[in-house]
Amino acid sequence: MNDSAAKDTDGARKEPCFPADAGDGTRAVRAGLPEPVKHEPTLPGPVFAAHFHLPGEPTGPYTYGRDENPTWTLLERAIGELEAPGRSGVETLVFASGMAAISSVLFSQLRAGDAVVLPGDGYQALPLASEQLQAYGIEVRTAPTGGDAQLDVLDGARLLWIESPSNPGLDVCDIRRLVQAAHARGALVAVDNTLATPLGQRPLALGADFSVASGTKQLTGHGDILLGYVAGRGGEAMAAVRRWRKIVGAIPGPMEAWLAHRSLATLQLRVDRQNASALELAKALRGRPEVTGLRYPGLPDDPSHRTASQQMRRYGCVVSFTLPTRARAERFLDALRLVDDATSFGGVRSTAERRGRWGGDAVPEGFIRMSVGAEDPGDLVADVLRALDESAH
Ligand SMILES: *Cc1c(COP(=O)(O)O)cnc(C)c1O
Repeated sequence: MNDSAAKDTDGARKEPCFPADAGDGTRAVRAGLPEPVKHEPTLPGPVFAAHFHLPGEPTGPYTYGRDENPTWTLLERAIGELEAPGRSGVETLVFASGMAAISSVLFSQLRAGDAVVLPGDGYQALPLASEQLQAYGIEVRTAPTGGDAQLDVLDGARLLWIESPSNPGLDVCDIRRLVQAAHARGALVAVDNTLATPLGQRPLALGADFSVASGTKQLTGHGDILLGYVAGRGGEAMAAVRRWRKIVGAIPGPMEAWLAHRSLATLQLRVDRQNASALELAKALRGRPEVTGLRYPGLPDDPSHRTASQQMRRYGCVVSFTLPTRARAERFLDALRLVDDATSFGGVRSTAERRGRWGGDAVPEGFIRMSVGAEDPGDLVADVLRALDESAH
């Protein structure tokens, strides 16, 4: 391997290539790019390698493909530059999925006899993780996200897990306040930042120890890859997360990592378009008599808005609401033309689903979670209002 290629695949750039006060669009398009090398691409392609040439002492950075990969390095740097601009000492690790990232924090930080506080209204696979934690002798306490109810169950906990905004209920808690209370009691704090994305909320700047997310959703935004990450202050806690990734082997493929990095270039464009349309849709739904329980943290009169506006810079692309019955909700989903009936959220193509079909979430039968895509907002709102009309009978 010649010198310039080695430097390139090492992603040798230590500092971001944009000024500290660069805007989100500039950051998104340049995040994690390596130093330019003549005749090399701007974003080097995926490096497919199970092992790397390694004569002599087996030292890093690249030895074996489960430990490190140059394509991950660039993506990890990119996500770190978005999650924690200008913060040195922040380390980011990518995973095979959001759940791989979540599990890596839970299972690397908690020991038998510890207590953890989880949201009672969080992502639907958390109860599965909770059962496994309990089987390992860890005490699991739950609290709802809204109203900072976690404060009442923090004493003696080792880790507080926050999901804000929560999925699918879109409740918000005061992250700074909870971090302060948790740290005062010696507990670590992890925030699931999936719904907000790093352009919407920066948990590490709010004091959290870990920002954890599924990159499957709006971060990568095309509904074609699964990915997860953990960003945290370096040190022992992150070393344990890294060790857990190695033990479990929950690593992303190089192709997925590269696709994710490529997708980050349009993050600001997608997020601003989708989130603006989500607000427009929420406003259009506000006047509809068949719609109850409408939630969007960006709506000025939403119960989450005050707290959200103190800690979020953008409010996400998910809108939730309830139709009178399960049958009405199903007819509505059937009648949509520009919105796919599918789970997940954050993609450029709008999706919606009747959340109750999964069981597990404490939501009414007619509860709809809608993820707003990058379609023209006028077309989308018209499609939704037409589907509401047509589903009336
Ligand atoms: C989807 C999701 C996850 C899990 O992510 P996967 O990539 O599907 O494993 C975790 N938390 C939240 C809030 C999610 O929406």
